[in-house]
Amino acid sequence: MSKKILLSGVKPTGRPHVGNYFGAMKQFVELQSQYESYIFIADLHALTTVQNRQELEENTTGVLLDYMAIGLDPKSVTIYKQSDVPQVAELAWIFNCLTTVPYLERAHAYKDAVANKKEPNVGLFDYPMLMAADILIQDADVVPVGQDQKQHVEIARDTAEKFDRIFQKCFKLPEPLILDTVATVPGTDGRKMSKSYNNTIPLFASDEEIEKAVMGIVTDSGADVPENVYAIHALLRDRVSLDALYAENKGQYKKLKELLIEDLKAMITPMRERRQALEEDKSAVLEVLKAGGLVAHERAEKKMEEVRKAVGLKLY
Ligand code: AMP
Repeated sequence: MSKKILLSGVKPTGRPHVGNYFGAMKQFVELQSQYESYIFIADLHALTTVQNRQELEENTTGVLLDYMAIGLDPKSVTIYKQSDVPQVAELAWIFNCLTTVPYLERAHAYKDAVANKKEPNVGLFDYPMLMAADILIQDADVVPVGQDQKQHVEIARDTAEKFDRIFQKCFKLPEPLILDTVATVPGTDGRKMSKSYNNTIPLFASDEEIEKAVMGIVTDSGADVPENVYAIHALLRDRVSLDALYAENKGQYKKLKELLIEDLKAMITPMRERRQALEEDKSAVLEVLKAGGLVAHERAEKKMEEVRKAVGLKLY
């Protein structure tokens, strides 16, 4: 029996954080041999915010190094960048023509931007259509993401159903894959870890950065267990050993933070060192991306031939 298809991606908008890792990226690695996996770098999506050539190039290479450093094996996973599959933009346009404006106005990312009084660009508004194209063009069965992306996978399903109803059956219906325990990883202030809240612990942080971030975790005085420290620590230890540690060091916030620093360093240091080693030969790493792009492009083209025919765009 052939393996099910897994697809997911990360936007190259800066350094990934521990929330990205536990919420999504770690699953990419853990599931890589169980599924036929396609993991991409969402550079077209990043253009909604990153509008500087050098920054986008560096960020994209950065995510590639991140993927390899966390343990994605190009022998089992197709790693590619979104812009190497321009068919996704073509498919997103077709989806745009089937989707109503009020429907997309209900998307969280757009609503958040409006609520924060930002003036959203059309790319941000249309983000869910491009994401639907990313997923559906590769026939994905499952999409490992954090809770914040669940709605976007649901939009992809709705869009596939709508297309199939109007034209003919072309798409598989994808499922989000969300782990309950890490659906929303909290940041140093207890809110969702996010670059926009400035509450992150970078995934490839230096020792000093880890110390600074952990010492800055907001603690509520009085309680035996500093909740925000415990919540991040719960990512790194099983419940039994964690509870024993917190019982032993009841009320000692500084000590507990030091223990968290120790555990974070033990997790981050080997990955950071692997990333540094990979960085020594960037051109070899870029070859992986190039090769993955060819594979993803070929699959997408096959699917688009089917779509173009179904829509009436293919006359010869
Ligand atoms: P992005 O860089 O926005 O493309 O996010 C990459 C992945 O990380 C997506 O699947 C997000 O859902 C996930 N993610 C981002 N922040 C968190 C968080 N605080 N907790 C859990 N997952 C997250």
